[in-house]
Amino acid sequence: MKDHYNRTIRYLRLSVTDLCNYRCFYCMPLCGIEKKRHSDILSIEEMTEIVRAAHALGVNKVRLTGGEPLIRKGILTLCENIKRIDDRIELSLTTNGALLKDFALPLKEAGVDRLNVSLDTLDEEKFRTITRLGSLKDVLDGLDAADRAGFENTKINTVLMGTVNTDEIADFARFSEERGYLIRFIELMPMNITKTLPKEYFVSNRVVLDTLPELRKIRDDGVSRVYQTERGGTIGLISPISDRFCDRCDRIRITSNGYLKPCLHSDTEISLKGLSGEELIDAIKSGVMEKPAGHQLDRFSSSTRRDMNEIGG
Ligand code: SAM
Ligand code: SF4
Repeated sequence: MKDHYNRTIRYLRLSVTDLCNYRCFYCMPLCGIEKKRHSDILSIEEMTEIVRAAHALGVNKVRLTGGEPLIRKGILTLCENIKRIDDRIELSLTTNGALLKDFALPLKEAGVDRLNVSLDTLDEEKFRTITRLGSLKDVLDGLDAADRAGFENTKINTVLMGTVNTDEIADFARFSEERGYLIRFIELMPMNITKTLPKEYFVSNRVVLDTLPELRKIRDDGVSRVYQTERGGTIGLISPISDRFCDRCDRIRITSNGYLKPCLHSDTEISLKGLSGEELIDAIKSGVMEKPAGHQLDRFSSSTRRDMNEIGG
């Protein structure tokens, strides 16, 4: 499936809930958000049908995200359903890791191929300041459980923020060397709530290369550029602002209430709720054709009115 700019779309990111058990200050308001009516969010069956239709159009990579996907009732059934559509679909899940200790093995058994775990600091106190509700120990225990369950190539997502965690870049590199995880530093994007944060939080991923001059580039991996440390750790840089990757974008996103978002930073949305069969396929196709050439984040402008917990990153 090609978009208007000849990009092949093969990657679907599905936000299975906009609710979360954390309140990361750059992502969600401290008071949380209003719970949507059950009838307004996609059911597990509707999500399965959307994946089936997207797969028929060429999607072979699906990521479950949120909000926090592990608090969505039926998440394991959804994973099993997706693998039943075609077990060659590459199925991954992004989680804050809080519940991973209990979910790692069931996720593996339900067919999840890979995990991304979000972790912005290795310091317990700072962890609490960033997530406002979380405990670092839960996430570290969750990572141990994921290793024991047999997950490989686990990635750590670290949103890099000046004066918040840039002093931990070398610690994360050591963490990668010790545990074998790929650490992916992500530039903070000026979404809805994020725009209100202090300007010094928005730093270029260049700071990683300046802090670790020994890094050697080994490959490009989708939207991230991957480097190796001297002792075999791996660091990925996802730099939507300083190294825009829109020309390589191969993804569409679905919100938990059933809107297809052709671009993370655009307000264009196509409702898929209630559609099935050919109608669903046509709506996905028209969503793909709405993908813009690129975003305008370099001008500190994201047109979406949604916070990241609604879109899924
Ligand atoms: N709750 C899960 C988690 O935290 O991994 C999945 C959803 S979360 C929205 C997905 C990813 O988006 C996380 O790695 C999070 O750090 C990142 N994220 C949230 N807001 C962001 C922002 N404004 N800029 C860059 N990344 C952001
Ligand atoms: Fe929740 Fe993930 Fe957003 Fe943090 S980044 S508030 S864990 S959805």
